Amino acid sequence: MTFQDFNFDEKLLEGLYSMGYSKPTPIQAQAIPLIQTNKDLIACAQTGTGKTTAFLLPIIDKIIKLPDEKRRLNTLIISPTRELATQIDNQVEGLGYFTGVSSISIYGGGDGNAWNQQKKALEEGADIIIATPGRLIAILQMGAINFSHLQHLILDEADRMLDMGFFDDIIKIIKYIPAKRQTLMFSATMPPKIRKLAHSILVNPEQLNISISKPSEGILQQAYLVYDTQKIKLLTHILKEGNYGSVIIFASTKESVKKLDQELHRIGMKTKAFHSDLEQKEREEIMREFKSKTLQILIGTDILSRGIDVEGISLVVNFNTPHDPEDYVHRIGRTARAETTGTAITFINDKDQRKFAAIEELIEKEIPKLSLPAGMGDAPNYQPEKRVSSGDFHKKKTYHKKKPGFVKKG
Ligand code: AMP
Repeated sequence: MTFQDFNFDEKLLEGLYSMGYSKPTPIQAQAIPLIQTNKDLIACAQTGTGKTTAFLLPIIDKIIKLPDEKRRLNTLIISPTRELATQIDNQVEGLGYFTGVSSISIYGGGDGNAWNQQKKALEEGADIIIATPGRLIAILQMGAINFSHLQHLILDEADRMLDMGFFDDIIKIIKYIPAKRQTLMFSATMPPKIRKLAHSILVNPEQLNISISKPSEGILQQAYLVYDTQKIKLLTHILKEGNYGSVIIFASTKESVKKLDQELHRIGMKTKAFHSDLEQKEREEIMREFKSKTLQILIGTDILSRGIDVEGISLVVNFNTPHDPEDYVHRIGRTARAETTGTAITFINDKDQRKFAAIEELIEKEIPKLSLPAGMGDAPNYQPEKRVSSGDFHKKKTYHKKKPGFVKKG
């Protein structure tokens, strides 16, 4: 299948090729024809599969074909975070570059200037609105936006939105938009609460399941069993020996992100910390530096694991084992975007072994546990069944019980 098969407008194809996409990814091949038939769709697709382009292409194509008076405020895309909203907005800009289709992203936390810009774009009526739920509700309640001509509603990363407690907000938003519309819902996972949401807002949806929470094949996944006291030394060794390009290091809390940033600075590494305490401007500046490769190493919480779409990230390090197995998939999905390759290394301390077993269970794959480099001392044994879990453990109650203690020399 090629992009020519979708009968897209020439100007859209031009934008598509200028982004360097030569052929549709599996989610694009399957979702685009369905979206073109105006049906509702619920698609289970993880980040990194090209899902954003899968919904943007047919939507932009439909908008191009509309008369001017029907284009304004035609499509609403709801995104869990402002970072994802900005990424989607950038993709519309890239894909729609030659088409004249306009978009605006709307999210909280910006300065007065950003808000004035958002308001102006709304008044002028951008074709595609990309919004985070909280800010959107505030605007709807102010009566600053009239969606009576809206034709498409898209919920991106719906599972994340529900995890962030946006269920009621989404239901509220629905009340402000026409009942007769096409609704598309994308989610990396399909827990029952997502099915419940789908049931309330989609009509006879088509269903697509591209792959349930499986990391892309291009990611080389590895892990180290390690005591907390050994982690910094191990991380430094990996960064110095590995000759990696852009690197993201994930830590569990913003406090641990800040601490890790300080520790790495102390030993002469140039890193930056990305977390929710930063102003929007500061976050944007850090992302700019990271994208332009001026900044090589970015340290962040899970806020970075969704929607950050930076090309050429060759290494993701989980300084701690992610609490939720699905977060693991999102975190390591920052590398090996689309059809490239990358490495994801997870540190497992003795308390996090059960969490790691749950990850292996979810992805149905045993991840090689590498030996610690020489001189670092002994590592804990991998015995997830015997370990007491740290903190409030992931809700799943079954653990991977096969082949414990698999250690590969590395
Ligand atoms: P997403 O799953 O939407 O987060 O997209 C993951 C990455 O794939 C992004 O960097 C896109 O720019 C890229 N991408 C989307 N569609 C294609 C395609 N057909 N060919 C190559 N890369 C793509």
